[in-house]
Amino acid sequence: MQTDNQLAVVLLSGGMDSCVCAALAARDYHAAAVHVSYGQRTEERERKAFFAICDRLGIHDRLIVRNEAFRAIGGSALTDPSIPVPESAVIGHEIPVTYVPFRNAHLLAVAVSWAEVLGAEKVFIGAVEQDSSGYPDCRPAYYEAFNQVLRTGTKEGRIEIVTPLIAMRKAEIVSLGLELDAPFDLTWSCYSRQDRACGVCESCVLRLHAFREAGAADPIPYLEPALRSS
Ligand SMILES: [Zn+2]
Repeated sequence: MQTDNQLAVVLLSGGMDSCVCAALAARDYHAAAVHVSYGQRTEERERKAFFAICDRLGIHDRLIVRNEAFRAIGGSALTDPSIPVPESAVIGHEIPVTYVPFRNAHLLAVAVSWAEVLGAEKVFIGAVEQDSSGYPDCRPAYYEAFNQVLRTGTKEGRIEIVTPLIAMRKAEIVSLGLELDAPFDLTWSCYSRQDRACGVCESCVLRLHAFREAGAADPIPYLEPALRSS
């Protein structure tokens, strides 16, 4: 199959990082977006965010898939209802219970398979190492190793995972998103709620901290409206 260096696949969960990543991909490439539902607590809300962000960014090529493995496997607060989502875990000490075991490999596998069929050479993922929850599948070494797998395990060997946000601080990602006019108002980051963001789970806490540090108001609704303003 012919490859197309103007075409990129972007993994879009619907959160703030993936939204900025998609805005970057859509600025520089003809972007095709993929979303994976995996039985996480907020999957309906995240899927809604995916469609809305694609609409706003003008991304028409979309792929939605379900991965049933994580719900069956469990072992994470996001996919196992018996494990509560903790309130703002201490960041950087140990891998929190919201880690979904080896999730990004599943997501990347779907995106790379689709890239092979489309003939895209780039796969964008908004993984962030700093200011994040310390998930092992968000480290640069992981993506270097994954790219080695792609060189040996795909037909043409030319597909590459790109991680434009990996070394950025969360506040810098907010600033970049504002510059790109990324639709933060359509994103969803909360791990536990789908109506209004809880403001206390680690994802909400990291997000609110990032907006505050960037001097911007977070446009999504929170349970406690005072949280969102800078
Ligand atoms: Zn939350």
